[in-house]
Amino acid sequence: TPGVKPLVAGNWKMNGTGAALGEVRAIVEGLSASGSAVADAMLCVPATLIGRAADAAGGAVLEIGGQDCHAKESGAHTGDVSAEMLRDAGASAVIVGHSERRTDHGETDATVRDKAAAAWRAGVTAIICVGETREQRENGEAERVTSAQLDGSIPDDMTAGNTVIAYEPVWAIGTGLVPSNDDIAAIHALIRDRMEARFGGEGRKVRILYGGSVKSGNAAEIFAIDNVDGGLIGGASLKAADFLAICDAVP
Ligand code: PEP
Repeated sequence: TPGVKPLVAGNWKMNGTGAALGEVRAIVEGLSASGSAVADAMLCVPATLIGRAADAAGGAVLEIGGQDCHAKESGAHTGDVSAEMLRDAGASAVIVGHSERRTDHGETDATVRDKAAAAWRAGVTAIICVGETREQRENGEAERVTSAQLDGSIPDDMTAGNTVIAYEPVWAIGTGLVPSNDDIAAIHALIRDRMEARFGGEGRKVRILYGGSVKSGNAAEIFAIDNVDGGLIGGASLKAADFLAICDAVP
C-alpha cells in the first residue's frame, strides 16, 4: 500500500526456550547487516521469552511481541498475562484472536475486541487475526466470515498506529496450502474497503498482513499483491535464515 511501511512478523507459537535466543541474535545480526530496512520486523515469542528476546534484540531493528493477553490489567486470573505485563517485559505488540486461540480457548470476536482494547490501554500494538476455515471457504463464506470477524473484533478507536490486521485463512496455517494470488487479493481488497468505510484515513493506512504457509519460496509473490503489507509467519519464523529470507522478499 503506498506510503505504508510493510511489516514481517514472526509467530513462534508455543516454541522456544533460552536455547532459541541464538536465532533472535542471528536475526538481529542479519537485519542489521542488510542496512536500510524496507520493512519493519517483529518476533512474537512465548511470554516466557519476551524479556530475554527483547534484551537480545536491543530495540533497534527487531521488535518483540507477545501472542495473547488478558483483557484486564491485573487481578485474580491465575496463569494469565496482561498487556501491561507484556509491555513491561519488552513487548511492543501482541497478537490477538489468532485462530488457534479462537479454537483452543473459545475466543469470540467480543473477547478479541476486549483484548485489542487492552493492548492499546497498555500502549502496545494489537495484531488482530481474522480468516475463514476450510469448510467456510468451500461453502463460499470466506468474505462473509472475514467481514464479520473484522466488524466484531476491532474496537472503535482503531488507528493505523495501534493496529495491524492479519488475514490468516485457517486452512492455510501450518498446512503448506496457500490461497491463489487472486483469492488473497480479493480478501485483502475487501478488508481494505471495510477498514476504510469504518475508519476513513486510518483504515486506508492500516497494515494488512497475509499469514498462512508463507515461506521464503512464496513470500515475494505474496508480498507483491495489492493491499498485502507484509506477512505473519509461523513455522518459517523459527529459523533465522528462513525468517531473514522472508524479510528480504519484501518489495
Ligand atoms: C500463524 O500461525 O500465524 C502462521 C501463519 O503459521 P504458518 O506460517 O506456520 O502457516
